[in-house]
Amino acid sequence: MNNTFKVVFWGVRGSHPVPGKSSIQFGGNTTSVEIRAGKAIIIIDAGTGIIELGKKIMKDYFSNPNRGSALAINILFTHLHHDHTQGLPFFQPLYLGNSIITMFGPLNFGEELKVVLERSMTPPNFPIDFFQTNSLKKIYTVKEDNIIIIDSKDSSAKVYNRYHDSINQDADSIKIEVMNEYSHPANGVLIYKITYKDKIIVFSTDVEGYLFGNSKLINFAKNADLLIHDAQYTKDEYISLPVPKQGFGHSIAEMAIEVARKAEVKNLILTHHDPNRTDGELKKMQSKYRRRFKNLTYAREGLSFQLLD
Ligand SMILES: [Zn+2]
Ligand SMILES: [Zn+2]
Repeated sequence: MNNTFKVVFWGVRGSHPVPGKSSIQFGGNTTSVEIRAGKAIIIIDAGTGIIELGKKIMKDYFSNPNRGSALAINILFTHLHHDHTQGLPFFQPLYLGNSIITMFGPLNFGEELKVVLERSMTPPNFPIDFFQTNSLKKIYTVKEDNIIIIDSKDSSAKVYNRYHDSINQDADSIKIEVMNEYSHPANGVLIYKITYKDKIIVFSTDVEGYLFGNSKLINFAKNADLLIHDAQYTKDEYISLPVPKQGFGHSIAEMAIEVARKAEVKNLILTHHDPNRTDGELKKMQSKYRRRFKNLTYAREGLSFQLLD
């Protein structure tokens, strides 16, 4: 049995993609990360980073002579802003009839995830209707009382209610817990905690910190092996006129570090880099903040973080 547990970053930008020479090292694609746990494929967010990931998944699938009949993929959406969804129409497995794509995400202003995804991919915004794509889709609107269990052997997923259902979990399954966070305008985001074989990853983007640290998140991320946290702005940008970024729903590195320290996480990866941030600036910030939290890394495209071999 393959016990791999790893995260690979395919998109690390916030707001919009950034092609060009100032983003060659850290990358210019918007948010998308791949998590592999056993044989399961879990993707968080579908910014433009998911486009190249989709090509790789297709290539691996078709080059595997022992492939099963179905290609099962799980996508967790933190929320549905452009920079977390704009790659989805170009995600090749969406068009593959053999794909089973299970999607999870928040309620959006009272509307189910399925409705909002269908509406975002339809003419005149895009030539092909989401509904017309060939993959088999299962779409779940989730919140804090849900627990998602994914089978690490075949990627199949089940959604449970943590208060009412007896949760069927064996040693090979992946547990995903959900936290509602309201600091991001205007509908909040979901933060995900993914546990596999006692290793824990918490993915927390598009969140703004609070005075004394986000206590709910500190509790949710307690003792995580890896916390991935928003750090879009610098302290200066956060407070300086004419347009202070306070209240925009993003953090500065100091906020992420406070959560990481109080939660006693082992590793911290900062992501959702501002589109204006150059490679040189990101490198400098990484050196600066490593002095405050030793196991800290600024996410870049291609970065792979292995929790289990
Ligand atoms: Zn974003
Ligand atoms: Zn956002």
